[in-house]
Amino acid sequence: MSAQEKIWDIPGGIHPAERKELSNRTPIQQAPLPKRLVLPLGQHIGAVAEPCVVVGQRVRKGEKIAEANGFVSAPLHAPTSGTVSFIGPQPYPHASGMLAPAVVIDSDGLDEWVELRPHGDYRHMESAELLALIRESGISGLGGAGFPTAVKLTARPTQKIHTLIINGTECEPYITADDLLMRERAGELVSGIDILVQLIQPEQVLIGIEDNKPEAIAEVRGACSERSYQVRVFPTKYPSGGEKQLIQILTGVEVPSGGLPADIGILCQNVGTCTAIHDAVVLGKPLISRITTLTGEALARPGNVEALLGTPVGELLQFAGLDTSKLNRLIMGGPMMGFTLPSLEVPLIKTSNCLLASTAVELPPPPPAMPCIRCGECAEACPASLLPQQLHFFALGQEHEQLKAHNLFDCIECGACAYVCPSSIPLVQYYRAAKAEIRELEQKQLKAEHSKQRFEQRQERLRRAEEQKEAERKARAEKAARAKAAQAEAPPAAAAAPADEALKKLKIEASMAQVALKKAEKQLAAHDTPELQAQVAELRAAADAAQKALADAQAAAPAPTPKPAGDEALKKAKIDAAMLKAQLRKLEKIETPDDEQQAEIARLRQQLEAAEKVLADLESQAPAPAAKPAGDDALKKAKVELAMKRAELKKAEKAGADEAALQPRRDALATAEQTLHAAEAASGKPAPELVRTERPGVDEKFKALKTEAAFARADLRKLERDESAAGEALQQARTRLAEAERKLAEYQP
Ligand code: SF4
Ligand code: SF4
Repeated sequence: MSAQEKIWDIPGGIHPAERKELSNRTPIQQAPLPKRLVLPLGQHIGAVAEPCVVVGQRVRKGEKIAEANGFVSAPLHAPTSGTVSFIGPQPYPHASGMLAPAVVIDSDGLDEWVELRPHGDYRHMESAELLALIRESGISGLGGAGFPTAVKLTARPTQKIHTLIINGTECEPYITADDLLMRERAGELVSGIDILVQLIQPEQVLIGIEDNKPEAIAEVRGACSERSYQVRVFPTKYPSGGEKQLIQILTGVEVPSGGLPADIGILCQNVGTCTAIHDAVVLGKPLISRITTLTGEALARPGNVEALLGTPVGELLQFAGLDTSKLNRLIMGGPMMGFTLPSLEVPLIKTSNCLLASTAVELPPPPPAMPCIRCGECAEACPASLLPQQLHFFALGQEHEQLKAHNLFDCIECGACAYVCPSSIPLVQYYRAAKAEIRELEQKQLKAEHSKQRFEQRQERLRRAEEQKEAERKARAEKAARAKAAQAEAPPAAAAAPADEALKKLKIEASMAQVALKKAEKQLAAHDTPELQAQVAELRAAADAAQKALADAQAAAPAPTPKPAGDEALKKAKIDAAMLKAQLRKLEKIETPDDEQQAEIARLRQQLEAAEKVLADLESQAPAPAAKPAGDDALKKAKVELAMKRAELKKAEKAGADEAALQPRRDALATAEQTLHAAEAASGKPAPELVRTERPGVDEKFKALKTEAAFARADLRKLERDESAAGEALQQARTRLAEAERKLAEYQP
């Protein structure tokens, strides 16, 4: 081994029976086309894809049937042509036997492709285009948890990837899908690596393969003989294929606890993912099938098949000669990290690398768990250098902080600890449950923290708004105080008002004289008589005199007070401040403003502050407005009171109230009149003429008779409309009306 091909060892690890010979002796076969395919929308880590087809729609092979639903998500494509027959919950490959949303396609047997768009010339493509192509092809990691490949390939601006590691380890017993793929498709594998190299531009490419796959090693070495890619072979040990373990084996570098390979400049991709990238870019084919190992002693013809995603596992096992009488436990994945399938109805998905149909002898049920004897075997076997027995202890006590402190999340759930445990404790199950609990709790805490932050932000906003209001109140009070002081210092109001009134009067007189003159002139034009001529002459003289009086008065009047120069500026400043205030209020009403809105709020506050300062300055310079005479309010109030008392009296009179009821109202009206006189005297304004004048010609008795007749008529109408009115009451009302009308008719003024 050259220095360049140096490999390192990992801690722990085990050597379970490999059992790979069951399935690695025959070439990859094509699985039959199923009649019905079930395609779960969540076949990857991340958001479940969103269907973009409807029931009844015909689709062709390779046509997109669901869109990626977010950044960490992957689209889904029809594995064959046919008709979408159902979209909804369907069996899903999970130990719980749960259902999950899926698109069901009834195959039409034609297997008709959509038009493919191969990119054999991808070397001219930009990285973004290539990434988009990989993303649109629905590729997610085919070797492990199914993380969307395009997301993993998206470069981090702060971290350069210097080493690309291709994982051909396939360390788990029974599984041979990657082994056969490397043997039969080494050319496509290397082509896929070429695409990754163009995207990532790493300094080195390391292909890691365990030494139990000699044919695969030879094929891959041959396929990349003209490239600088290094095929590194290392001794078989479980779980060398774990991402962090393989990195340590090939580079001697450990990925830090809780970190990712990218943190140390390394990216890992599975061999199956690389060939899928080749198919997507060079052939234009999306991910619609995968190579799966069908193995176990319950199968007559174990081997590897290329099967369409969505194929029910029962059909695949039938193809491999399943003997249901022998089948004891059906596992998806391998015996170490796989999980038991509750049904043969579940479909094959992107991460299904193996179906293990085992007999009871082959994989006997584990003996009952016994208490831990603290033998330490588990710690010896752990490839992540954890303390499995301690983790077990903390998991039993739900001591989450201790579990995290003992790096539970570095556990790769390889099962090596449980494999060696003499007490047969299902350790991994405890770790999985504990991880799920912690994640759930953290989610809840995150939500609670988020709510708390929102609450605190709201409180802060309210506090700021209150402060702002207080500042405004203070500013207004200061402004009022300044205005009052200015008023006190100002000279007494100019005694121009009487002069103004006189001028106004003269203007009206001049105008009226002109109107009278024009009217007389028109009449004279129509009927030229000496009387009219004399009248016109007289009116013309009067108009001239009025015009002259007006001109004299205007000449004598002081020049009108020019509008202060600052008026316009003051007006503008008021408008500016009002507009800013309105904009600010609008934004402050938003419960949880984003960063941009918060910045806008801060900006507006500053502007408002500046605008209000300008306004305050201008107002302090402006002359104080003339104060309202002190008695104005009292005068106004007295007028309103008088009007109300007058209305009350009228209403009572109309209602036909008797004298006893009317008298207090008359007294109240008299009091209101006196109050008004007093207020007028106090205001200094000339007293209005409050003498009520009776309209000439109005006969009070006649008016009273008319009123009585009107009321009698109204009462009768009202009773006639009331269905429940008594006949007697109606008769009385009619009699009253007849009497009133008679009196009215007989009345002689
Ligand atoms: S191997 Fe099993 S019995 Fe031994 S220390 Fe670990 S958990 Fe306990
Ligand atoms: S399952 Fe976890 S704790 Fe057990 S050996 Fe594997 S990594 Fe270590």
